[in-house]
Parts: sequence; structure tokens; C-alpha cells
Amino acid sequence: MLNEALELWRGLPADTRRMLLSNVWCGECRKAVTIVDYHAELIGVVVLKGFCGACGHKVARVIDDLAPAPKKKARMTASGLYIFDVWLYGDEHYTEDKKIIRRIRIPGSKSLYNFAKVIIDAFDFKFDHCFGFYDKLRDRRNCRKAFELFVDIGEEGTPQAKGVKKTRIAQTFDGVGEKLIMLFDYGDRWQFNVVLKDIRKGDKGAIKPAVIESIGKAPLQYPPRED
Ligand SMILES: [Zn+2]
Repeated sequence: MLNEALELWRGLPADTRRMLLSNVWCGECRKAVTIVDYHAELIGVVVLKGFCGACGHKVARVIDDLAPAPKKKARMTASGLYIFDVWLYGDEHYTEDKKIIRRIRIPGSKSLYNFAKVIIDAFDFKFDHCFGFYDKLRDRRNCRKAFELFVDIGEEGTPQAKGVKKTRIAQTFDGVGEKLIMLFDYGDRWQFNVVLKDIRKGDKGAIKPAVIESIGKAPLQYPPRED
């Protein structure tokens, strides 16, 4: 059988393909680069997987809306399993041996609200505060990506923000290596760095989100007061 993903990809206009190939996020270079030695996979939609043309790091790019005919699409959409490394930054003096990471596997069809709950559970925190996902924390009004619970509950937040309850993980991340910051509790400002590490094909049937690796001990969300 022909590679369906590759066929779909080749069906795009040449200049569109060129533009997409030269605009792939590299988590190592921390900028958009050209993807090389790539192949196409069908993970709900077409996903290109390859390497950064500058540094050789693994990169991938989701080609939004490029999927097989509707009937198949309905069955396949967002069936990919997303693998994330979530780093909790406890303090300014971050060192390698103080790494606090949870590797999380979650279907791309889940909402950001659901994802946040899984993250908070993974660190044994209580899911008791507002939160948002951002591509950067400084100068939030100029974020390229901002998703906030405030939008869903009708409170004022960052003007350009979208909600978290109707936004799926698969719609949020453009490719492997992309990092967003989840800010939890706008008072205590817990910062979780959320890095998309891989997108894998989902098995048949529902797959529940899971913590698949755990490094470092999570701090107490509410440490006892020192008087
Ligand atoms: Zn690179």
C-alpha cells in the first residue's frame, strides 16, 4: 500500500510545502528551522518527522487539517498519544540534581483543562487554583499562545487568551520540541515547563492519561509555616 500520509503531503502546492518545511520548531535551537530527512506519518492528521537542518535534533511538524477523507478522519482525528516532559521549577537556583520531572502520556484529543488536571495530580498538588498555558511568561499580552481558565469561567484575563476547556492538546502544540509554560495559581505562581517530546500512534480503544516516568520529589504545595 502507498504511504497515504506522503500522498496527502505531496498533494499540497509546492510553495505551501516549502513554506511548511522551512518553518518547523526546533526545541534545541529554540527557533523555527528547516526540517531535513523527514518522512510523513498519519497520526490523525499528517505529521512530518525528521531532523533540524541546523543542529540535527529530532523535530516534527503537525500539518493541521491535512487528513484522509472525512469518514476515516472521524475515526482517526487526534488519536495520537502525546508524550510530555513536565518540569516543575521550584526556585531560581535550578540545578540538574534538583530536577523535578514527570513524563506524561495523554491522548491529543484531551482538553487543556484535562491535561492541567493530570499535571497537577502528577505532582500531588490540589487542583484548586486558576491556571493558564503560555509560550512565554514575560509580557503575557504579547504571547503568541495563551490559554486560560479565566476565559471559560468568564473572568478577565489576558486579552488574546483562548479557553482551556474546549481546546484540545492536538490543537495547541504544533510539533515535537515545542515548550509551553503552565502557570498554576496566580498567587503562588507555580511554573511547570511543558515540553512535547513525541507523538505516537494510539492503540485502539480509549487510553487513559498516565505518568510514565517520575524524576525527583515534588515539593509540598502548602508547606507548613515557619514562625
Ligand atoms: Zn536545531
